[in-house]
Amino acid sequence: MKGEKEHGQPPAQLPHVVIGGGGFGGLNVARSLRRAPVRVTLIDRRNFHLFQPLLYQLATGGLSPANIAAPLRAILKRQQNTRVLLGQVVDVDVPRRAVQLTDGVVGYDMLVVATGVTHNYFGHPHWARWAPGLKTVEDATEMRARIFLAFKAAERETDPARIRSWLTFVVVGAWPTGVELAGALGEIAHDTLRRDFKGIDPTQARIVLVEAAGPTASRCRPWPRWPCSRGATPRAGSPSRPAAARQEPLRSSASSPSATRTTAA
Ligand SMILES: Cc1cc2nc3c(=O)[nH]c(=O)nc-3n(C[C@H](O)[C@H](O)[C@H](O)COP(=O)(O)OP(=O)(O)OC[C@H]3O[C@@H](n4cnc5c(N)ncnc54)[C@H](O)[C@@H]3O)c2cc1C
Repeated sequence: MKGEKEHGQPPAQLPHVVIGGGGFGGLNVARSLRRAPVRVTLIDRRNFHLFQPLLYQLATGGLSPANIAAPLRAILKRQQNTRVLLGQVVDVDVPRRAVQLTDGVVGYDMLVVATGVTHNYFGHPHWARWAPGLKTVEDATEMRARIFLAFKAAERETDPARIRSWLTFVVVGAWPTGVELAGALGEIAHDTLRRDFKGIDPTQARIVLVEAAGPTASRCRPWPRWPCSRGATPRAGSPSRPAAARQEPLRSSASSPSATRTTAA
């Protein structure tokens, strides 16, 4: 019967709230609607919620993906008025009140778009190849592979300049993500890998933290001191020529050639 609860679903005449994205934003909206007289559909292209603040731990080998991701269905399983759909939102038809997925359409009465953000490559997306970002599990595992491969590649080199290049890591962006990443890189070099290599000294790794925002970039204070105490060197960049773009200067400079760059901007 119309309006009756069927198969555990809330009555169909209730307003339908569609939430695109199950990150912090989308999930919090869904939870806050748990007692509201609405039907909620949360759509995410992944079947899990990712705790992004710990991505840097994944990127540096401290945690595995299962430690920082939780299935959205499991999180919301007790929420009677909510269903979770796996799907990629590609468009919104506002006049028709419909969300277009790659493989279907979902109508809504109210729509919440919470699909997050992406990196800022300052209009140069091709830099991503040289300096991957840190927003997804795939980003983090790619970064982890590059970091540990750099130490292994350094061990096989005989040319001191190339060893130095492999052991120089450039992190672009010195807000919390970049600072945490630089600190974790320092820990890898000074603690985790310290005794793992015979041919190189991991503690000789240089971590260059580049930030465009002002004079604080030239010294550790008032930056958090943690990465500095683990070998990270703050550097000033510029908004128009951030370090991700400065492969040439960084490579050609006698003081800062680097084989490994990451973006936390
Ligand atoms: C490395 C890192 C460290 C951070 N550390 C901190 C911290 O210490 N403290 C803090 O407060 N904040 C931190 N942040 C910021 C915080 O994680 C973000 O502000 C927060 O995740 C944003 O939430 P959101 O819901 O807007 O987006 P997100 O968490 O990015 O979620 C977006 C969701 O939408 C989904 N999605 C995207 N596009 C589509 C689509 N087309 N169709 C369907 N689904 C889609 C994604 O799969 C994802 O699940 C950090 C961020 C990063 C990347």
